[in-house]
Amino acid sequence: MAVIGIDLGTTNSLGAYWKDGTVQLIPMERESFLLPSVVGYVEGEGFLAGAAAKERLIPYARDTAASFKRFMGTAKEYCLGGRAYTPMELSAMVLEQIKRNAEFYLKEEIEEAVITVPAYFNDRQRSDTRKAAQIAGLKVERLINEPSAAALAYRQEYGEEDRTLLVFDFGGGTLDLSYVECFDNVIEIIAVAGDNHLGGDDIDEAVSAYFCRENGLCPEELTKEEQAKLRKFAEDAKCALAQQDGVTMELDIRGKTCRAFLNSERLFEICMPLFGKIKQLFLHILEDADSRVSGIDDLIMVGGSSKLAVVKRFLRELLGKEPIVLGETDMVVARGAGIYAGIRQRKEDIRDMLLTDVCPFTLGIGVNNKANRDKNILNPMIERNSTLPASHRDRFVTVSDYQKEIRIRIYQGEEYYVDDDVLLGELTIEVALRPAGQAWVDVQFTYDINGILHVTVENEMGQSRHILLANQALSEEELERYTREMERILLPPIQRPENREMLARFLDYYENSTGRRRELLAAVTGAVAAGLQSGRKIEVRKAQELGRAWLTRLQQSMDMREETLFDGELKDGYGGENEDIAEEPGSGTDRKQKDEIIEESRGNDFEENIT
Ligand code: ADP
Ligand code: MG
Repeated sequence: MAVIGIDLGTTNSLGAYWKDGTVQLIPMERESFLLPSVVGYVEGEGFLAGAAAKERLIPYARDTAASFKRFMGTAKEYCLGGRAYTPMELSAMVLEQIKRNAEFYLKEEIEEAVITVPAYFNDRQRSDTRKAAQIAGLKVERLINEPSAAALAYRQEYGEEDRTLLVFDFGGGTLDLSYVECFDNVIEIIAVAGDNHLGGDDIDEAVSAYFCRENGLCPEELTKEEQAKLRKFAEDAKCALAQQDGVTMELDIRGKTCRAFLNSERLFEICMPLFGKIKQLFLHILEDADSRVSGIDDLIMVGGSSKLAVVKRFLRELLGKEPIVLGETDMVVARGAGIYAGIRQRKEDIRDMLLTDVCPFTLGIGVNNKANRDKNILNPMIERNSTLPASHRDRFVTVSDYQKEIRIRIYQGEEYYVDDDVLLGELTIEVALRPAGQAWVDVQFTYDINGILHVTVENEMGQSRHILLANQALSEEELERYTREMERILLPPIQRPENREMLARFLDYYENSTGRRRELLAAVTGAVAAGLQSGRKIEVRKAQELGRAWLTRLQQSMDMREETLFDGELKDGYGGENEDIAEEPGSGTDRKQKDEIIEESRGNDFEENIT
């Protein structure tokens, strides 16, 4: 049984697989690796997916559907051949076509696929992607994020050093920016930002408008068919700039021959408004990632629109560094998916990687709104862009005197009023009979990388209720496995046995030393503890490494009964390689203060409505 990787794109989809230590793309049709994500219905024949369907977009617009990935997870319907289809069903047809092409090429049955999805896809969108695969007869154990796939492809080419990447994925209809940290065998998405209405289509639109301006045409006066024809023509001219310096666009419209000249210089001007938007997205993601341009080691260009020299030029000027191009930019994500397919098959020539995610949306519960009792507001428990797995616990109090129970409603979304967010589920639990504000419950949210949300509510009497919200049906066995995994995640790094033991050993050394050695030990211990306490995995891992290195050296120094370890070390802080550590104990204090503040504010304002 073969496992393949699939990039199910808005504009184009691709398949890839792992073979003999490298990733290979699967040819689709007409000597191309790209399968247009277009579905068409042919009267009396049935459905088509791919290039043949794309050709029918203009002449048979009514029976052809494209760009439906934009509406994945919604109830939007496309009417083809007199019947309505959802984006999920249309995606299933694309996946089925890829499966067929792969089986034909590889001459074996494909049962399982690793499918990539945008990092910002929410539960419903992911769930619909899984269902689409199921309809197409593919088992999907794991969906991976497109930027993680791009990072995998990058590491294959550039080696496995620790790196911070910015993945710039500029496709047909969307631009997705992801701030990704790669360290050891972990690929972690720190933040995502994007615009799902900014892509190659917009460039085509801008070029069409330019063409009209040059020829005194009013775009609105053109028929739908003429507009579509012009857009296709603009796209061809844009893509031609990859091979030649300039193109003369020439098109007959209503018997008149219209002309316009396009080169990179002119395209740069045409794209200026789009570049302005891109710049804003960069500011946004750097802010969310709490970083700066200097914090990015490499910018990876992904997506078909990244092939444009003007885009590369703009990024070079914006960031002051050379963007990295990993071969054909529109095949990078598929190659990453193929690499991951190799990992899934436990191929020996490939190392297992842990791909973490960010939560692309906020998860929280509805709480009472003092200003307007009828409109509950969202109290976030897991903030958008939190690294997964993520966990958070908070206390909530009653709003009415002697209320008997509390109902916890779980929501997903960014809207202030819960009515505008997505309701995922609810839990009800008894509370102690007390005046308003005096009875409480503790609510814990844990969200893992498989998109499973675990919510537990516990009252003062020690009773608890919990709910698992998954984007797919789980078997008993999986349920148990996930529950066990959740329990592990619930322990913050600082409380995990191995880390506690490490800190205990430091304290031992501390007790048994004096003077400068003691001061130094206090600082190192503080640094390790602060790292373990930070939410960032990369920090936790650095702290573990620092701690282990010091314990080894301390042990050696004890063994040799030598004081030399500490002499000389003090001159440059404590351990040369980690200069910024000196600040860490301080940030530990900040964190402690923050914890106290959080502790104090608990249960003050956030109250759940009586039911
Ligand atoms: P998606 O991820 O949205 O499925 P792709 O990454 O395949 O899409 O990108 C499709 C976009 O790339 C289209 O807008 C197409 O016009 C554009 N594109 C493809 N090749 C080139 C090229 N050589 N020059 C400029 N744009 C290109
Ligand atoms: Mg794409």
